[in-house]
Amino acid sequence: MVQGYCVKCKAKCEMKNPTVLKTSRGGFMAQGNCTSCGTKMSAMMSEDNAMKAIKEGAKKSF
Ligand SMILES: [Zn+2]
Repeated sequence: MVQGYCVKCKAKCEMKNPTVLKTSRGGFMAQGNCTSCGTKMSAMMSEDNAMKAIKEGAKKSF
């Protein structure tokens, strides 16, 4: 499960349909939608967490 900060809920929320991307600086981030309100959200993540998210079913986009 991927969590990110939702600006609308003003809280950490679970991400729906997360996609893991690689940033131009070589970091990883996930993009998806808030499960509570549907707002687009993103979260920076470590490589370990990125790989874990992909294993758990997140889309890989790099
Ligand atoms: Zn939300």
